Order: sequence, then C-alpha cells, then structure tokens
Amino acid sequence: MNKNKYKILLVEDEGNILNFVTALLEANDYQVITAKNYEMAKTMYASHIPDLVILDLGLPDKDGSTLLGDIRTKDLTPVIVLSARSEEREKVKMLDMGANDYITKPFGSEELLARVRTALRNSRHSASEGHLPGRKFTVGELVIDYDARQVYIAGEVIKLTQTEYNIVAFLSENCGKMMTYAAIIKAVWREHPDDASIKKLQVNMANIRKKFGAYPGEVSYIANELGVGYRMNS
Ligand code: CA
Repeated sequence: MNKNKYKILLVEDEGNILNFVTALLEANDYQVITAKNYEMAKTMYASHIPDLVILDLGLPDKDGSTLLGDIRTKDLTPVIVLSARSEEREKVKMLDMGANDYITKPFGSEELLARVRTALRNSRHSASEGHLPGRKFTVGELVIDYDARQVYIAGEVIKLTQTEYNIVAFLSENCGKMMTYAAIIKAVWREHPDDASIKKLQVNMANIRKKFGAYPGEVSYIANELGVGYRMNS
C-alpha cells in the first residue's frame, strides 16, 4: 500500500531471531526481506537495494563482516550489526569498517526499533542536507552554526578552540552514531591513530565536556563509551 515504506534487508541464520525481528519490523510498518547466509544476502542486496541492512556476524558460509565490506565498497547504505559477540575489539572493528551501529544479542524490541529509526534518519539527513550554507545543527539547547563555526548552549556562546570545534562539528555531522577514536582522529587530525593521538583526543574531549557543563553521571550531549569512542546524542 505505502510506496514510501522503508525496505530492510535482515541477514540472520537463526530462525527464531529471524522470525522475531521480521514480525517486529513488519508490525512497525517496515518492508522486510530476509537472507540466511552470506551468498543469499549478497544477491538480495544487489537486486533489492534496501534502505537499511541488519546484519548478523556469525553466518554459516562467511563472516557477516564480509558483506559489510562489500557494501562499503559500493555505497553508504546504513548497516546495523547484530551479534552475540560482546568483545570491544569486534565492536570497534565493525564501526571502523563503516557499520552505523552495533547491537549485542540478546536485545529488546524497543532498543532495536530505536537504532533502526536513528540509522534511517541519519542517512536521510546526510543525503538531503549535506553542507548547505546557513545550515545549523540543533539538539536540545545545543546549537551549532557551521558557517560561523560557533557553538551555543541555551543562547550562550561556548568558547571552543579550533580543534575542539572540529571534534564537536564532526560528531554532530554523525549525530546518533558511535564514532570510534580512530574515525575521529582521522577526521580531525588526518593522523593514523596511536596511543598518543588517542590521549590527545581524550584531553580535548574532557575540555569540551567541561565547557558543555557535563558532569559524570548526568545525561549529556556527548556520550562516551570507554575504549570505543564518542557519540553525539540525538
Ligand atoms: Ca548467527
């Protein structure tokens, strides 16, 4: 009926999870196509051009990361990785390969739906808005004026250094998405990330959070996942 329905490719070999997620997405008005292994997923992706891919890493024929790699050589279709593995290293690797988000099994319905909405919203933003002149970013009381390179909270100018501004602007352009240390360092300093550059990023981030008035334990504009990266909350 609805021609504007988002089409989601769900790649998962476990039948019970496949059925549960399919029913959940369809009940929320998404169109779902499914694949149970890498080869099938690759074919489905090429023929259906989905708006979003939900990708299980442990597939019977190949690791799901192979499909993520294939997709990223072609386009920026959002990919949410679904996995039983909870190791930080795996999470960072997937995000650096271009995954938009990562959900560890077992997960709740609301959590999955929220991640799906965020991933679809972000891809629509970047496709339609780009870097238009006069564009401003707003979340809560935080406003970023990209032309003036100024950041405001509740109407007050927040005095940031050039580097601090560049970090904040980069996170805002990827709002809602967990950005790894490596991704931020490459974008802001054009450097290969090492221990020294991660330390430099953490010092800058501590200063930004201080200027934003965030205290440990409070809800803040920038979330920190230790050992992984930072996310501007949407
Ligand atoms: Ca699996």
